[in-house]
Amino acid sequence: MQTIMNYQKRKEFLVCVDSDGCAMDTMDVKHKKCFGPCLIEVWNLQRWEETILDRWNEINLYSDLRGINRFKGLAIALREINEQYIEINGLDCFQDWVDTTKELSNESLIDRISKSKTECLEKALQWSENLNNKIKELSPQEKLPFENVKEVLEQVHQYADIAIVSSANYEAVMEEWSDHGLLAHIDLLLTQNIGSKSHCIHELLRKGYDTNHVIMIGDAPGDEKAADENHVLFYPILVKQEAKSWNEFSEHVFGKFLQQDFREDSIYYKRKFYDNFVQKERG
Ligand SMILES: [Mg+2]
Repeated sequence: MQTIMNYQKRKEFLVCVDSDGCAMDTMDVKHKKCFGPCLIEVWNLQRWEETILDRWNEINLYSDLRGINRFKGLAIALREINEQYIEINGLDCFQDWVDTTKELSNESLIDRISKSKTECLEKALQWSENLNNKIKELSPQEKLPFENVKEVLEQVHQYADIAIVSSANYEAVMEEWSDHGLLAHIDLLLTQNIGSKSHCIHELLRKGYDTNHVIMIGDAPGDEKAADENHVLFYPILVKQEAKSWNEFSEHVFGKFLQQDFREDSIYYKRKFYDNFVQKERG
């Protein structure tokens, strides 16, 4: 796999694809079996386990905060826990790191801990490392691509370069995509160690793509924001309608994108995207 440093574009068009919850059916299993349970464990929150886990899933899976960076999600959860259940020692220091760090990653957290040893910072790191290990323990059968993804990527790759743009960690994404033979259609894998999704797309544009020739495919508002900030196009994969969304991309969207005729239609898809969250939150 090439790195962003030595990456060179091969085609005039670029399709950026988010991984979790977009190409890979991994959001539910990761949040329900890894993120939430590790939060309970590290902060000893067993007394309120059920309500805290429900709230964690509501925020991270079914609200328009879906796909939020893990540390930002953790800060929201810890603030609520601090207000409703039990005092979280050092929460302000953790919040300060989340608000000010250039990179929301384990490495950057380790760096902050070396300067200021605070309980909440250390627990956040432990949580993040524990959940990475738990994700590794999930079997490949628990982390499958959505239906149609492989076929659509194969089709797209004939006409466009493809980059994964994900806020998960590099090793996890690498493993999941290679387990299911998807890496053959990928030119570049960009993850949280490079920076935010917006930063990743910015770096890709510097390789010489026209903004009208780049589209981001994602399942979360953060994906749309990253696309907007770079003036590139966005196509949403709708929660619980993923296979259908990929099929629609293949049949109706990709051709228009190549003809540079998708920008107007993208408004329709964005509306459908937000309507779907409203329905999920109500339901
Ligand atoms: Mg996602």
